[in-house]
Amino acid sequence: MRIALIAHDRLKEQLVTFVVAYQDIFQRHTLYATGTTGLRVTEATGLPVHRFQPGPLGGDQQIGALIAANAIDLVLFFRDPLMAQPHEPDINALLRLCDVHNIPVATNIATAEVLIRGIQHGLMRWHSSSPQPPLPTEGG
Ligand code: PGA
Repeated sequence: MRIALIAHDRLKEQLVTFVVAYQDIFQRHTLYATGTTGLRVTEATGLPVHRFQPGPLGGDQQIGALIAANAIDLVLFFRDPLMAQPHEPDINALLRLCDVHNIPVATNIATAEVLIRGIQHGLMRWHSSSPQPPLPTEGG
């Protein structure tokens, strides 16, 4: 699966710890990340990560573009709910695209744990093996 990783600054340590804890699963998948998150994950695990721009400089939008192109299967986005982000519109756009394209997305570690265990048990195969549901057509 193609997994996107994003964490706001105060949650980066938590995401890194999470990836280390589940490294045996993550190493079997292709990882993408915003710039700083990806760097931290690579430094901690040695796993290859396709890194984009830092989030505030457009990284969320770059990952959003992959979601729109059906090139991401899962998003783990550890959002900071207690601090305003300068790129809030980009964050909202990314999460909206996950809903548009039915991409499983976790915005906190508790949900991430359920999703990653779901991968472990093969529960996400429907996503990569099924055609995407039709999108609503213009005008209804
Ligand atoms: P970063 O971006 O990984 O480059 O810090 C994350 C974000 O702020 O969206």
